[in-house]
Amino acid sequence: MVIKDKILIIEDEKGIRNFMKTVLSANGYDVLEAENGTDGYSMLTSHCPDLVILDLGLPDIDGVSLLKAIREWSSKPVLVVSARTHERDKVEALDLGADDYITKPFGTSELLARLRTAIRHTRISVNKGAMAHRGKCIIGDLTVDFQKYRVFVKGEDVGLTQNEFRIVALLGKYAGKVLTYDFIMKELWGPNVPDDNRILRVNMANIRRKIEENPSEPKFIFTEIGIGYRMVEADE
Ligand code: CA
Repeated sequence: MVIKDKILIIEDEKGIRNFMKTVLSANGYDVLEAENGTDGYSMLTSHCPDLVILDLGLPDIDGVSLLKAIREWSSKPVLVVSARTHERDKVEALDLGADDYITKPFGTSELLARLRTAIRHTRISVNKGAMAHRGKCIIGDLTVDFQKYRVFVKGEDVGLTQNEFRIVALLGKYAGKVLTYDFIMKELWGPNVPDDNRILRVNMANIRRKIEENPSEPKFIFTEIGIGYRMVEADE
């Protein structure tokens, strides 16, 4: 018997909830739904879903507070959903431990891709990760070698500086997931790093010059405007 992943959708807009429910059921997920934060939170504790899709704009509790409450006791994957106009909420949610976000309106393939990545990342962290064993992250022509501290494109060492390597390695470790500017800065330069992303942007421009065929149309590392960077999902 195949055990289905159980997804809890906490979303007050009926149309969007139904859309997600239809898509997820058709793709082999078990779906639970709640139309407000209070019901959602109680279903989360009683039904133990594998992943939560959380709308940030709920009628009773705001999604960010709900996420904070969830993260006090659970590291369950949470995918936040919000409108394009609420960029700051998304950043806050990601920094509070949301696994990823999708912006309304979104399509079927985007929803499914984000879900798969979030679920896979939980599994990877549970069994310490295939990548950690291999010591490499491979995305098409790009190889991040964590043991040699080098990045190769088509087998050629691209000659990253130490800081550039640390940025690429961090994104590679979380390939497929968006990392906020703040998260990257704090991971690499410590909790007291000034709130200024300039150093990151300068490094990223250099990284792209070295790894991308066309730095203005990157294939490996995408900018999520106002939020952070995402490296393309690693090959299986
Ligand atoms: Ca809403």
